[in-house]
Amino acid sequence: MSKFLNQKISKITPYVPGEQPKHREYIKLNTNESPYPPSKLGVEYANEQAKLCYLYSDPECTELTSLVAESLLVKAEQVLLTNGSDEILNFAFMAYCDEKTPAVFNDITYGFYKVFAELNGVPSTIIPLKQDFSVDVDAFMKAQGTIFLANPNAPTGLYITLDIIEKILASNPNRIVVVDEAYIDFGSKSAVTLIDKYDNLLVTQTFSKSRSLAGARLGFGVANAKLIADLKTIKYSTNPYNVNRMTLGLGKGAILDKEYFDKNCKKIIADREFTTIELEKLGFTLTDSKANFVFAKHDKIDGKTLYLKLKDKGVLVRHFDNQRITDYNRITIGSHQQMQKLIVAIKEILGE
Ligand code: PMP
Repeated sequence: MSKFLNQKISKITPYVPGEQPKHREYIKLNTNESPYPPSKLGVEYANEQAKLCYLYSDPECTELTSLVAESLLVKAEQVLLTNGSDEILNFAFMAYCDEKTPAVFNDITYGFYKVFAELNGVPSTIIPLKQDFSVDVDAFMKAQGTIFLANPNAPTGLYITLDIIEKILASNPNRIVVVDEAYIDFGSKSAVTLIDKYDNLLVTQTFSKSRSLAGARLGFGVANAKLIADLKTIKYSTNPYNVNRMTLGLGKGAILDKEYFDKNCKKIIADREFTTIELEKLGFTLTDSKANFVFAKHDKIDGKTLYLKLKDKGVLVRHFDNQRITDYNRITIGSHQQMQKLIVAIKEILGE
């Protein structure tokens, strides 16, 4: 750290992304990417756009915004595309939190919320998940500040139903609730249907997981037009061309190629069920994950040891150094073949 860095930034502990190994080929089940390539149609659109990169991208992202809005049955003015959903989440911290309006989130959830709070100099109110990792709904209903709820949650994968989201939204209409739906496409119902009913709701989603575009960086927010206008103020004050031309092309293909999207989501869900059953047979306890990962622990081997042994065998999963979940590993659902290899590796480790 240099002596020039300002006080606010020097205090931040940055987010630690999952490992992206370069020196060995792993079965990579650690960062919740899709095992399937992006839609071919999207790659064609991106290639066309690459030739036009001497020109800035459309700052309004007009075409893709309309396509996303149509696919969600909302209006284009209710959607804002961003550079990954991390960007819209950061915009929400910038727009709706301050010294007097803390960010409210679970103790075990997406690690970036804490970092965004620090980056934006806002206090955090942390609400512990209950013993069984369920959300303490009453505590959220009472909390003052802007609520950030990942649904399904990460890394537990647990989903809370829309009636619970509605209870939280209705308990205080003067408080923003951000529902982070990064994993919504793997079998659960989105809160997007509630945006006309609640003007304090912002839903965020991503193309990184279910649409195989983690490396393209594309996410979006959906809310009533006034909230979207607030967030646009931030976009136009930081980076008006936040979504590049190739990404807009990839995103367009991903939306138009609905058949491919549906097929991949179904495969991931089926392989999540397969992995769950196989791990349970081996004595693991798992949460009821609705995401593209499972969250599993075993009585006979601690989480860190299993993570390290799997890594030795060329399988990368995610272990978190948080005491409450140290027994667990988060395992991304890859292809069926990758999941079979994972099970073989775990059988070998347990048999040692
Ligand atoms: N929310 C949650 C809960 C996540 O796990 C992630 C992925 N790390 C994100 C948001 C951000 O995803 P992206 O920026 O790739 O859209």
